[in-house]
Amino acid sequence: MFRSGVTKLDFKDVLIVPKKTNIKSRKNVSIKRHITFKNGKTWSGVPVISSNMDSVTSFKTCGILRQREFLSCIPKYINRELLLSNQLPNELWYPNNYMLSCGTSNNDIDLIKNVIRRIRKFDVYPMFVCIDVANGYMTSLGDACKNLRDTFPDIVIVAGNVVTPEAVEELVLSGAEIVKVGIGSGSVCETRLKAGVGYPQFSAVSDCRDIAHAFGAYIISDGGIVYPCDIVKAFGAGADFVMCGSMFAGHTESPGETVNGKKLFYGMSSETAIEKYNDGMMGYRTSEGKTVSLDSKGSLSNTLLDIEGSIRSACAYTDSITIKQLHDIQFIRVENHHNTSLNHLNAIS
Ligand code: 5GP
Repeated sequence: MFRSGVTKLDFKDVLIVPKKTNIKSRKNVSIKRHITFKNGKTWSGVPVISSNMDSVTSFKTCGILRQREFLSCIPKYINRELLLSNQLPNELWYPNNYMLSCGTSNNDIDLIKNVIRRIRKFDVYPMFVCIDVANGYMTSLGDACKNLRDTFPDIVIVAGNVVTPEAVEELVLSGAEIVKVGIGSGSVCETRLKAGVGYPQFSAVSDCRDIAHAFGAYIISDGGIVYPCDIVKAFGAGADFVMCGSMFAGHTESPGETVNGKKLFYGMSSETAIEKYNDGMMGYRTSEGKTVSLDSKGSLSNTLLDIEGSIRSACAYTDSITIKQLHDIQFIRVENHHNTSLNHLNAIS
């Protein structure tokens, strides 16, 4: 039985329509959001987040992103290490620039609570905790939100991943201020190939935006950013934040060794990650992520500047003096997204 007869869309299926504008220079555009969450906490910054994947985000990359006011979601595997360390890592002194992350098991929740308490002993109040599971439809996710909400009323809770409005509503009612939307869109994700489950990312966000905003909550679009323009399209679809994995992977500063000019990038449900952190497939699981090696993309700062420039350009084309106004841009559906006629030639720059 089909849920809807309408074909759902990905970023590649749409383009943005330009509009008459008084914006004289892209310099005049503000690419920062100033957000007040339901619990009264406020945040300002560029609403683009590096994924909590251990081949993408480390304290080092977090520092580079912080300098340009981007956010980083720290992989949960660091939590145990944090609890054992006597010192607070440098980057954790900037509580508005990172999200801690955790899963939903009792152990994970106890651990993150202890990590938060420990960081607070240094008089640093982490702002965000991302409760992250591949399948956000498990009741344990709502329970984890309630549990953390009761213990820390002042923490901004991010919960996901889901792709439907009713699931967004449930998570918000369980205490989440931000819901992470996206299943199967990731570059190293194999959920669609293994389980056949997914929802094209542009439509997932546009179908979930209204319910989140009606409750005073926010949306992260997670997965499927291939080009900088996809970040803009995610904002246009209604996302308040955009999370990127592959876009931030493979840089000189990315975690992991560079071997023959290449960096390893893997899904957090790939065999590589499962064998590193879990007990393997345990006879009843399959890997739902790939491992690839990427040509080094050079310095991460250049990619950040490229993203900033792309957002500014889109804002100028659509008469959006602030990034928030991208929520109101118009789209058209397309079959051909960009001109690929010279793709067989190597670009010189
Ligand atoms: P990307 O920006 O690379 O397209 O997507 C990043 C997102 O993919 C992550 O933030 C996360 O939600 C998702 N992801 C990461 N690893 C895996 C995996 O192994 N399997 C699946 N299904 N999704 C993954």
